Amino acid sequence: MLRLPDRGPLVKRVILASSNVGKLREFRQMLAPLAIELVPQRELGIDDAEEPYPTFVENALAKARHAARAGGLPAMADDSGICVPALGGAPGVHSARFAGEPRSDARNNARLLEQMAGHSDRRAHYYCVIVLVRSAEDPEPLIADGRWHGTLAGEARGEGGFGYDPWFFLPEHGCTAAELSADAKNRISHRALALARLLAMLKP
Ligand code: IMP
Repeated sequence: MLRLPDRGPLVKRVILASSNVGKLREFRQMLAPLAIELVPQRELGIDDAEEPYPTFVENALAKARHAARAGGLPAMADDSGICVPALGGAPGVHSARFAGEPRSDARNNARLLEQMAGHSDRRAHYYCVIVLVRSAEDPEPLIADGRWHGTLAGEARGEGGFGYDPWFFLPEHGCTAAELSADAKNRISHRALALARLLAMLKP
């Protein structure tokens, strides 16, 4: 159960404002030890919100507010992406649709690798912002973020994770994010760090 700060009642059900299957799986695993029911927005018939903003935090807030308004429950949203300095921070907030519609991890990865041709600086980091609102109009949303640094691999490796993980190489582990076990990724990822920071804010 979550006790929301100050005036918070105990919260047992929280909408997860995402339709991304990879994210849902990771949130479920990471929140399993807590007695809260995480309800994916699709189960309540809530469609994806628009994400028109240039920053992760604005998009996460828009998604959380949209789900809380439509579902009448507290809502949690994650906005995340991979940022590549050699590409001026792209794909960034456009990570999910980097290669356009319909969303495709394979096409996104192909476009990223194509754009990296000729660049010797292959640094990249994942960034994640998680927003928790008690209601759509919550004036004090809880906001936490996390970064995970790596480089872009020369070839895709691994079957785990989702999205850009087969190309996201972790020099200190000697493998890509897709080669980590789910548990290992959920201990060290950008999402894990953001969630740990958010949960720390909820401690009484
Ligand atoms: P969002 O759903 O608009 O926040 O877009 C998130 C996108 O960023 C995903 O669709 C992936 O392309 C990428 N992304 C975010 N986190 C991860 C991760 O942990 N692994 C791989 N790709 C990620």
